[in-house]
Amino acid sequence: MNDRERIIKLREELREHNYRYYVLDKPVISDYEFDLKLKELQKLEDANPEMYDPNSPTQRVGGDITKDFKTVKHDFRMYSLDNSYSSEDLLDWENRIKKMIGAPVQFTCELKYDGASMSITYENGQLLRAVTRGDGVQGDEVTANVRTINSVPLQLKGVSEGRFDVRGEIVLPIDGFNAMNEIRIKQGEEPYRNPRNTASGSLKLQDSAEVAKRPLEFLMYGIKSEPPVFKTQFESLEMARNWGFKVPGDARLVNSIDEVLEFIEFWDNKRHDLPYETDGVVIKVNDLHVQDELGYTAKSPRWAMAYKFKAEQASTKLNSISYQVGRTGAITPVANLEPVLLAGTIVKRASLHNADQIEKLDVRAGDTVYVEKGGEIIPKIVGVETSKRSADSVPTVYIAECPECKTPLFRTEGEAQHYCPNTMGCKPQIIGRIEHFISRKAMDIEGLGGETVGLLVEAGLVKNFADLYELKKEQVIPLERMADKSADNLINGIEASKNIPFERVLFAMGIRYVGETVAKKLARSFKSVSQLMEASYEDLLAVEEIGEKIARSIIEFFENEENRQLVERLKSYRLHLAISEEEMADHTDKLQGKSFVVSGVFESLSRNELKSLIEKNGGKVSSSISSKTSFVVAGANMGPSKKQKADKFGIPIINEQDFLHLVS
Ligand code: AMP
Ligand code: ZN
Repeated sequence: MNDRERIIKLREELREHNYRYYVLDKPVISDYEFDLKLKELQKLEDANPEMYDPNSPTQRVGGDITKDFKTVKHDFRMYSLDNSYSSEDLLDWENRIKKMIGAPVQFTCELKYDGASMSITYENGQLLRAVTRGDGVQGDEVTANVRTINSVPLQLKGVSEGRFDVRGEIVLPIDGFNAMNEIRIKQGEEPYRNPRNTASGSLKLQDSAEVAKRPLEFLMYGIKSEPPVFKTQFESLEMARNWGFKVPGDARLVNSIDEVLEFIEFWDNKRHDLPYETDGVVIKVNDLHVQDELGYTAKSPRWAMAYKFKAEQASTKLNSISYQVGRTGAITPVANLEPVLLAGTIVKRASLHNADQIEKLDVRAGDTVYVEKGGEIIPKIVGVETSKRSADSVPTVYIAECPECKTPLFRTEGEAQHYCPNTMGCKPQIIGRIEHFISRKAMDIEGLGGETVGLLVEAGLVKNFADLYELKKEQVIPLERMADKSADNLINGIEASKNIPFERVLFAMGIRYVGETVAKKLARSFKSVSQLMEASYEDLLAVEEIGEKIARSIIEFFENEENRQLVERLKSYRLHLAISEEEMADHTDKLQGKSFVVSGVFESLSRNELKSLIEKNGGKVSSSISSKTSFVVAGANMGPSKKQKADKFGIPIINEQDFLHLVS
């Protein structure tokens, strides 16, 4: 057997052993033997670099560093689920379905495992990429990290064509989570708060070798493809199991909501014996055709429903209430609690939301309170045990002044939150805004972190983000822990940020409600900050996805003289405050109204480059061929099923050259 054959054989063997160990939990060889084979494979691969394969079992150990997680668009949108809390809610839902469909339907019941949702795209049976949910339309590509998760098949068994997304939950088993925390506590580090956040945090680690060390698992719950490969949800779960996925065995096929309720009742008790955290049950219409007929609302499928188990509660003493000031000046009251064990984690703080909430609950320092853990990161206080209240207890008086700068707080009519209006002079706001400005998705200033921002503000060197551009090396060197080299890095990082494109500068300014996506939209529509500043309320509303709240916030921002000055200063430092000519030239409407499907591999550009070329020229990229497709752009290895489909609909198939010709 030559090296090549041996590599192929070892990969196959290791894949199977990995599957037996991590998915079936039924290993047939010892860990030691497994390691020997893996080492042998590694050695052969090192000696034969042309045999590199990102989906080889050797890649599971990680090592790839991701500095910036690329934002990518999902082939199929990731919706969230509607929630129900009672049998009535579920019966109502069943009735709505019956009305639309005119017949009873079957449901699958699945447990709702609590972790981070993940969409993994497979192409020709190979793992292509893994993307977080993000906002549902686009998420962060975390492929290198997901490859290290042993229950994620890198190559599917018995699938060698087609492209589809596999959906599931990345979870940390409770045991594994506790083991991680034991180590952290031993090393004197703060323990992680709960398995879910730790799972989703793990996916964003830059070093995939670190991720490989964590006992993450992937629990599969759905397949998205166009057209669907299966007839029913239940069938797709079973098929995925055959392909090598870990599909929880507790899913059931049932004929009515009554049976759904039995399932819920059973698991409401039994779920605490499971190795993972669950927070409910997901009920789905089983027949995919019926799913199609029911369709989606703006946010969620009409054919699925989550049922939330009643959250766990604990009672404890409220020691005090403190107030935090956020980047936008919003005040958040926080309850400081006597530590209490709740759903497996120790809780010390709880959210009180706002003044209304405090008044409604009549919470007072010294009270015995009920704490509940819902889906939020911080638990919340849901009630007070007034019978345990001491006689001298007095009602909580909400603060009237900012705890940081003593400015009187104000509250906009109809809004629950109090704000500190001292935008330019209140320290946490100043620091928060600068931290936002330099953050990775904004100006991404290397060499400058949150701590240094605090020091710079304390030292009176900067009061706003524009001041950063006036900083001199001599000024920063005296700062605590600032070596000569780090001072250089800081100054260079600030200088380099002048090249950041307009849309990100706009996002960095921190206009309330203007997130990354909105900033992008605004940049494309108005082209420059000057035009944006002149835009009227109506002009703003005319932009797709900009609603009244955002429009008002933008107007307010630019009405403020201080903000206008900041913008002028950024201009004078030569930051990009308009779309560059290149970007302008890049965008055409040559492909306006045309819809493209891209398949295969290309010579002169990557698939993503090709897709972005289509979009820049006004075209639409779609993942599946339909009668509405204008062209299929085919590279080498185009899937045969795509070819068939294109022929069926009579859609022209063009190659790379033809395409480049279209946009040149
Ligand atoms: P929500 O975030 O409350 O809208 O609920 C939707 C999320 O539930 C999905 O994004 C998944 O992360 C998660 N989930 C857990 N188990 C399942 C399941 N069996 N089917 C669908 N979604 C699930
Ligand atoms: Zn303040």
